[in-house]
Amino acid sequence: MTYQSVNPADGKLLKKFEELTDKELETRLATAATCFDTWRHKSCADRAIIVAKAAALLHERADQFAHIMTLEMGKRIAEARGEVEFSSNILTYYATNAERFLAPVQLQPSLGEGHMESSPIGVIFCVEPWNFPYYQLARIAGPHLMAGNVVVVKHAGIVPQCAIAFEQLWVDAGAPAGLYTNLLISHEQSDRVVDDPRIKGVALTGSVAAGRSIAARAGTNLKPSSMELGGSDAFIVLEDADLDHTVKWAVWGRMYNTGQTCCAAKRFIVIDKLADKFLEKFQAALTALKAGDPMDEKTTLGPLSSESALVDLLKQVDGAVSHGAKVLMGGKRIDRPGSYMQPTILTDIKPGNPAFREEFFGPVALFFVVKDEDQAIALANDSDFGLGGSVFTKDIARGQRVASRVETGMMFINNISWSDAELPFGGIKDSGYGRELGDMGIQQFVNKKLVRYVKAEAPL
Ligand code: NAP
Repeated sequence: MTYQSVNPADGKLLKKFEELTDKELETRLATAATCFDTWRHKSCADRAIIVAKAAALLHERADQFAHIMTLEMGKRIAEARGEVEFSSNILTYYATNAERFLAPVQLQPSLGEGHMESSPIGVIFCVEPWNFPYYQLARIAGPHLMAGNVVVVKHAGIVPQCAIAFEQLWVDAGAPAGLYTNLLISHEQSDRVVDDPRIKGVALTGSVAAGRSIAARAGTNLKPSSMELGGSDAFIVLEDADLDHTVKWAVWGRMYNTGQTCCAAKRFIVIDKLADKFLEKFQAALTALKAGDPMDEKTTLGPLSSESALVDLLKQVDGAVSHGAKVLMGGKRIDRPGSYMQPTILTDIKPGNPAFREEFFGPVALFFVVKDEDQAIALANDSDFGLGGSVFTKDIARGQRVASRVETGMMFINNISWSDAELPFGGIKDSGYGRELGDMGIQQFVNKKLVRYVKAEAPL
């Protein structure tokens, strides 16, 4: 396989990159392992110098980093710049807080004294997706490097320029060789990396299929892993919701990043009293979006990340329709160069329809009408996924109650502010396990070691 950078706004090939040979891969793994031997002994303050410098450089070069992202995967330029700034904030957050998160915790045993220590475990292998080409990398680099681990990263095949730019960032920040290593490798090489005894943990963000494959491999090797996988988040609208406020979030929640977000609002579940009005406004807002060059600040609808992503999504819509779903709007590619799809709303999706259980990774909203709160929750929970979800109501206590009953890793009331550096991110069920970001994110790949002192003779 070759890593190919293609501009999805016009389909033109930008650059191609050869995969690493096995020998080159071995050299990189060996360098990473050697780096760990010294990095593990650095103080948090020393580690923070490098991580904070990388954060500062990302901020300084936000335009340059954003430009590469928009070229390679079509994210609208303002969103791309926002992602770069957020990635910088994540690095800063861990540079600032890691020492506190990893400080020894005193225990109160009935006999003697005890405490828990947190120590690094080694080289962590990270497999990352293209939809947030830098944020995903910051989410693993910030915590794991500050914890004293080092990372080797396989980024997605369609964003090699982002992958290389992020590796260069660490070189420019003064990182020792092997601290952050980008690996342009095949799936088969990736399996061998998981098996490699120098790898002590595996983190993957991506599809359920990739998660199953890599988690199984990590399990066979008895290596800890974290899995951040797909989702089909419910967007629940109760009959007392503020309609205009709700519709704005609905549009943002479905269309941000052209709908290619794991925790995007994907299933719109609306109580019947408000359903017609909601749908009318939602449809009008989606119709108003204008496809254009994602480099143009005025564009409101960018392309999907690749031609194959578009073709797969169109097939998925056709499959839903052949099983009884109706297309209320959209459903087709947009007649212009590049991988653009019409904003789409599907209705009449019954439980036997494969679409009922699938993730739609693009501008396709599944719309459901229910009669009350209980039905809304039951439908939200009738999913193999369990990443996030949201509920809209003027009654915050009611929103809290609904949030507690929805079976996911994250719930948002009257907003969908998905991710902040200090908040744990992750899901349950087929959406994976483990958490990234926040205090929890740095605890994933550290040895939580008990140290106990008791003044006592051995029992006879
Ligand atoms: P994907 O096909 O699973 O790819 C993700 C990464 O896994 C890529 O680097 C890919 O490499 C690699 N990969 C896939 N199969 C592999 C295998 N058998 N062995 C080794 N590596 C493998 O996912 P995607 O379609 O690019 O990304 C979208 C998915 O990610 C969606 O389901 C989305 O919901 C999920 N996602 C989840 C989160 C979260 O935090 N929960 C965040 C973002 C995205 P190649 O590109 O070379 O195949």
